[in-house]
Amino acid sequence: MSETIFTKIINKEIPADILYEDELALAFSDINPQAPIHFLVIPKKPIVTINDIAPEDKAIVGHLYWVAAQIAKEKGFAEDGYRAVMNCNENGGQTVYHIHLHVLAGKPLGWPPYQERLKAK
Ligand code: 5GP
Repeated sequence: MSETIFTKIINKEIPADILYEDELALAFSDINPQAPIHFLVIPKKPIVTINDIAPEDKAIVGHLYWVAAQIAKEKGFAEDGYRAVMNCNENGGQTVYHIHLHVLAGKPLGWPPYQERLKAK
């Protein structure tokens, strides 16, 4: 099993602003927020990329979305809306190889991301 910085966060070896935890998942604030609200929902199982999701992991991945929605409701931004997105490999912008759902909220978000990147250049 590969170990990343997220394994250390799961094991409480390094600190994080933890928003939710259960036996399958952990949610914590992103260290480098890209929106007024930006947190990550990760499985405790260290699945490397979306491509590595095995049939037995399908319920875990669905659970990550459920956790995202619970936090959105609890924090009061569910109705305004948010983005829940997972990056995969280099072109997807993945930098930590332990799957994680980015949850971004707190302002209207631009779409599509490719156009945003072109505009930023
Ligand atoms: P990716 O680029 O793989 O889709 O997203 C990785 C995310 O993890 C980034 O948004 C980055 O800011 C966040 N991140 C990386 N290291 C840490 C850390 O040590 N603590 C926290 N809270 N977030 C981290």
